Amino acid sequence: MDRVSPSRLSDFKQCPQLFKFRSIDRLLEPATIYQARGTTAHLALQRLYGLDAVERTPERLYDLFREAWAEVRDDEYPDMFESVEEERAWGIESMELLANYFSVEDPQEISPVGCELDLLEEVNTVKVRGILDRIDENENGELVVTDYKTGKAPPERYALPAFFALKIYALLTRKHLGRAPVQLRLLYLNGPTLYSLDVDEQQLDAMEKQVRALWVAIQRAEERESYPPRQSRLCDWCSFQEICPAFGGTGEPTADMKRRPEQVPEPTPA
Ligand code: SF4
Repeated sequence: MDRVSPSRLSDFKQCPQLFKFRSIDRLLEPATIYQARGTTAHLALQRLYGLDAVERTPERLYDLFREAWAEVRDDEYPDMFESVEEERAWGIESMELLANYFSVEDPQEISPVGCELDLLEEVNTVKVRGILDRIDENENGELVVTDYKTGKAPPERYALPAFFALKIYALLTRKHLGRAPVQLRLLYLNGPTLYSLDVDEQQLDAMEKQVRALWVAIQRAEERESYPPRQSRLCDWCSFQEICPAFGGTGEPTADMKRRPEQVPEPTPA
């Protein structure tokens, strides 16, 4: 590996074995209706901000969601639903989540600096690549980074770890734009819930050191071929529990598990 994404750094921090399953073994997780909704909603929200402000209405967002689903359904989520009724129920639930979005913020009032930005930057000698949902300027002209989530928000006392990857996105933004964001926002459509965290240069400097330390730990793990599982309550949501050594598994993928292709397209350097 010569680069890493904020999500994969977050995986390693959470559990080195999980990092191995996802990044070294390149195992694909079974597609779920929640992932399908997340992919489609992100695409629809990105396109919403490509429209003139006056056109950013709920009805337009619903249309964009339908269009995006028609595009991704056959390639990325074939056989997701067993019946048209099931797919329709999922669609209705998705529209309800999208309606929630307008109770959190008014997209007609927002002029993003960028949406779905593909960033590749060197952070404290580590090449980090990530796609950022949205950057705005607040009323003082300061940068605010927003990440959309279609899942349910964790209780507030567990929210802080969810900001880990977003802090790395803040580092990418600082490198890319030459200005540090002052606030990070996690916008959960399910609820809806908005968590925000103020950040400053000192905190981001500390995060840079943490990125470097994690990268060194990843390289050490690669050299030793040692990725110890780290059990936590997050194991309940792990797709690899049945093969995880911490749960009596062999650590080897089963025959029906699919892998990502080795060659992935190179992102455009920022
Ligand atoms: S089940 Fe838990 S310990 Fe095992 S890989 Fe997943 S997160 Fe790590």
